[in-house]
Amino acid sequence: MRLAAELVSRGATMLAEPCPQDGGIQVRFRGKVYCTSHDDLSSITSADAVSYDTVVAHMREVLLARLNEATTALATEKDAIKQEQLVSLVAKYFELLQRLPQK
Ligand SMILES: [Zn+2]
Repeated sequence: MRLAAELVSRGATMLAEPCPQDGGIQVRFRGKVYCTSHDDLSSITSADAVSYDTVVAHMREVLLARLNEATTALATEKDAIKQEQLVSLVAKYFELLQRLPQK
């Protein structure tokens, strides 16, 4: 049950129907169905933990760079419509950055 909850927190969906083999909780993760009782999920969760952290770190770098670029462009932009586009962009980058897990 704890494992199922952990998988759900990583983006897996808990399935309503139990495993046909042993009645265990089934989850769908990245298009595949796993049974939390008889499938070995430890390798999947540990492998994902590494790549997930790497992706988050990369996202943070990219978003910060883009946020900086858009803010710099906004400082010199005279056109109101382009300013509006830049403000919307900055707001989206900023929101995404804040949604990233903090370490
Ligand atoms: Zn099973």
